[in-house]
Amino acid sequence: MSDCIFCKIIAGEIPSKKLYEDELCYAFYDIAPQAPVHFLVIPKEHIPSTDDLTEKNAAVVSHLFLVIQKLAKETGLTNGYRIINNVGADGGQTVKHFHLHVLGGENLGEQMINK
Ligand code: 5GP
Ligand code: ZN
Repeated sequence: MSDCIFCKIIAGEIPSKKLYEDELCYAFYDIAPQAPVHFLVIPKEHIPSTDDLTEKNAAVVSHLFLVIQKLAKETGLTNGYRIINNVGADGGQTVKHFHLHVLGGENLGEQMINK
């Protein structure tokens, strides 16, 4: 997708603080961190959101979780972390390229949303 900022990040057209990359996914630190550690893991394929997952493209999501498990250790999230996936307008999704947020580095509490 030519006008997608995350596709541009994958292509190296927009700089990012890269954590990890393989043939299926790309991981990088969020530009506006909401916790001491906050990174994003995205499929290289342009999938707009969870609503666009299908039997054909959804296998990448389990791969993203395994990558998160590895990156959590590497970034020091040994005491736990939170994975967030915002979907659509009410979900607060601003970038229309599927992404998993990984947040940690402090106790995030038990409340899942903070309006
Ligand atoms: P959403 O609100 O769609 O779930 O999350 C999008 C996330 O992407 C936000 O946390 C935002 O800070 C991050 N973001 C937006 N543009 C850029 C960018 O150009 N570089 C990086 N590293 N993160 C970005
Ligand atoms: Zn994209």
